[in-house]
Amino acid sequence: MGIFRGDTLFRLHLVVGGVLSVACVALPESAWSDALYSAIAFGCVATMVVGVRRHRPLAASGWWLTTAGVGLWALADLLWVVYTWVLDTDPFPSPADALYLASYVLLAAGFARFVHARRGEGDREGVIDSLIFTVGFLLMSWVLLMRPGLESADSSTLARALAAAYPLGDVLLLALLVRLLTTAGARAVAFRWLVAANALLLAADCTYQYTTMHSLDDRLSDLPFLLAYVSFAAAAVHPSMRRLTDADAAPEADTRFTRGRLAALTLASLLSPCTLLVQLALGVRLEAWAVALTSVVLFLLVVARMSGLLRHLEQQASRLADMARTDALTGLPNRRTSDAELERMQTRARGEGSPLCVAVLDLDRFKAFNDTFGHQAGDSLLVAAAGAWRGRLDAAHAGVGPGRGAMLGRWGGEEFVLLLLGHDLQEAVDLVDALRTSTPAGQTFSAGVAQWSGLESPVELFGRADAALYAAKEGGRDRVVPAATAPVAGDDATSTSVSRA
Ligand code: GH3
Ligand code: MG
Ligand code: MG
Repeated sequence: MGIFRGDTLFRLHLVVGGVLSVACVALPESAWSDALYSAIAFGCVATMVVGVRRHRPLAASGWWLTTAGVGLWALADLLWVVYTWVLDTDPFPSPADALYLASYVLLAAGFARFVHARRGEGDREGVIDSLIFTVGFLLMSWVLLMRPGLESADSSTLARALAAAYPLGDVLLLALLVRLLTTAGARAVAFRWLVAANALLLAADCTYQYTTMHSLDDRLSDLPFLLAYVSFAAAAVHPSMRRLTDADAAPEADTRFTRGRLAALTLASLLSPCTLLVQLALGVRLEAWAVALTSVVLFLLVVARMSGLLRHLEQQASRLADMARTDALTGLPNRRTSDAELERMQTRARGEGSPLCVAVLDLDRFKAFNDTFGHQAGDSLLVAAAGAWRGRLDAAHAGVGPGRGAMLGRWGGEEFVLLLLGHDLQEAVDLVDALRTSTPAGQTFSAGVAQWSGLESPVELFGRADAALYAAKEGGRDRVVPAATAPVAGDDATSTSVSRA
């Protein structure tokens, strides 16, 4: 398995840490087993220090905060060993509690550093998702741990507050764990061990609180606690820990709405109503307020998530629509758009009684240009020409004024189309001729211009413009040729091209 692959130190740590942890929980409870427990804990902290110093990670502060958090936890555990086997007391609250609570804060701060360094741009979804999980978990924690802790009758106010503070610390850890999982970024081996460590610590801590509260065997949580220590150290000592916060080494940006994520979010948002159902079924006291409040928050979060998805879809749809409308190379309207625009202009021309002309422009000897300067230079010329012509049209205010409109589109290849509403044939020819002289890189084009008869179809109109273009090419290129007037019904006129070169 990939997560067991690493250098010698990493593998040695896993084997020694794993074997000692299992041995520790297999031993009957004694001063020796507890001493071994603390030795493993401090061994892991030392291994973390070695790992961070050895690998010199980019966001070292995150690693040092995490190491300090694990170190305080180990220290608090050691205090307990001393209370139990040396001083023979069982104080609550004690300085150990302060250490544990400080440890939550340091671990959370470390994880927050990692999240900050790994986070993708505008990761609103990741934040909402982790909030959904956190609220679901908070409810569970409230029902199972916090409220019973707060209501434990036989202890002082401080003790009750502490009993509720531990589950709150776990909620904080869970929030940051889920947030870390929703960040974009490489899921290197060290990342997986760090996630495992946090998950084990959470599981162990919740188990410990539950077992002590219900006077069950509190050694049930020993193995997950020990494995959490081993996992934290495994993460820090693995060579890939360097890349954990390297935003550039993040090939799998994972803010997508995967099926797995949907399933997890569904489960998290069902926690609240299911809590009520279970309490109803068991006939125990209903957590009506807690369930109602978390339901409201969860619904709002889900709606926020949905609105985000919807906005994302809308943006995507409008981007796709843009792509379908424009030519990717020049950014000009493409043929589909030109056809649609011609129809719109015909309707306007008919309604307003304005003249409507179409021009077909074709670069001269463009194949030779490509052959001489390369295809890329040819592409650049197409882009430059489109820009220059558009600039010329803007300067001529071709589309400005009542009943006027101008649209330059890429017809395909090195052919362009210009639609001119409110320009008669002569004006259109003059305008296209002005474009001809503004073609960049000393290149030229030939063009045919036709004025719409008001009756002919777009195909017929373009046919006449195309015939005029053909005549322009025949006539020696680098010129604009007006098309012959459209044949009137019953008239059998053939096209006569007028060269304006
Ligand atoms: P003519 O004066 O008769 O129009 O000659 P021409 O070489 O321009 O005409 P022809 O139809 O023989 O060749 C058109 C060339 O346009 C062929 C093709 O290599 C080039 N072309 C078409 N689309 C593109 C493009 O997107 N990029 C580049 N670089 N070249 C293109
Ligand atoms: Mg051509
Ligand atoms: Mg050409």
